Amino acid sequence: MQDRQLYEQILGIGPPWFVERVELDVEEGVVNVSLAHRDDAKWTCPECGRECPLHDHAPQRTWRHLDTCQYQTLLGATTPRTRCPEHGVRAVRLPWAEPHSRFTLLFERLAIDWLSAASQQAVAERLNLSWDEVHGIMDRAVKRGLKRREARPLPRIGVDEKAFRKRHRYATLVTDLDRGCVLFVAQDRKQSSLDGFWKTLTDEQLSSIEAVAMDMWDPYENSIRQHLPEAENKIVYDKFHVAKHLGEAVDRVRRAENKALRQAGDERLVGTKYQWLRHPSNFDDDQWRRFAALRNSNLKTARAWALKEQAMSLWDYTYEASARKQFAWWYRWATHSRLKPMIEKAKMLKARLPNILTYLKHGVTNAVSESLNAKIQWVKYTARGFRNFQNFVNAIYFHCGNLNLSPAPT
Ligand SMILES: [Zn+2]
Repeated sequence: MQDRQLYEQILGIGPPWFVERVELDVEEGVVNVSLAHRDDAKWTCPECGRECPLHDHAPQRTWRHLDTCQYQTLLGATTPRTRCPEHGVRAVRLPWAEPHSRFTLLFERLAIDWLSAASQQAVAERLNLSWDEVHGIMDRAVKRGLKRREARPLPRIGVDEKAFRKRHRYATLVTDLDRGCVLFVAQDRKQSSLDGFWKTLTDEQLSSIEAVAMDMWDPYENSIRQHLPEAENKIVYDKFHVAKHLGEAVDRVRRAENKALRQAGDERLVGTKYQWLRHPSNFDDDQWRRFAALRNSNLKTARAWALKEQAMSLWDYTYEASARKQFAWWYRWATHSRLKPMIEKAKMLKARLPNILTYLKHGVTNAVSESLNAKIQWVKYTARGFRNFQNFVNAIYFHCGNLNLSPAPT
């Protein structure tokens, strides 16, 4: 029969397997392709590769394959089982599918290609897959990818938290700052969340870590200090996280001052919140003129803002000694400012100073590349459809892990 040979070619099926029967079910829109093997076929144990006698056959199963001419195409076969003296009765490896998958390798490749480019919902609809089937394909893809990942050196990594679904549910992400990919994802943002990361590293990888960019978040810091030798020289507090702290303090000063001014009929600070939080380089000429009048005023908010801007100049230094001198000067100014929010932050920065100044040596921040950030945002955006956290973890690895996800051709 011509169609049997045609399907053998399409499927890449070769001895000892052959296409026994091809049946077209027009009503259901399905092509059923039955596979069988030669009686004299030799089988090997899937564990050790040793040639073993045929024990029996597992019950008939089907695998979904790429559609042919818009007909859903199902392969059917009974899987031979061998009896290995060492590993007992085992199902043999099939050339068209991975163990436990209900799809052929080519179908999984297609689904993975689609999932890399389109939403899970779109792929489920387009390929007529259930959510569980989509998640199963992604789960296998990620396991495959993580298993294949090489133990490469990781000189600069970042540790960060991401809010998942609702506020106050968090994931911990470790990123490779040089390659711009996610290395590790765990639920929550506790010390134990990050502890799992270190176990995934080889000794060589652990000793290759030169710098870890992070927020000032003690649970992460405890984990890093417990697992990473000489962590005190490697932890770098993220510049943008420090800026955020100082921005919050400026805003607290502004809110209190605005309230007091308005009671006296002074509206100068009304509606200026974002002017103080914005980076001055983002103003246009007109905005800059208006803001310049505010920041040159004798307002407390203007002083708080100037303190923040001065603090951020620490990151421009080359030498630690000059940066320390600058900080000492700034600290005296801040603590004498009579602005309580700024005094609090100044004390915090003083306590954290050693790992702020490590920036001068390592030059890292937690700002990941734009493309990685866009992917993380995409996963977070589509995360609304995830019913459990593992699906979210898999989606992060799938889209952001730089993993080799596709099943290997056999
Ligand atoms: Zn064996």
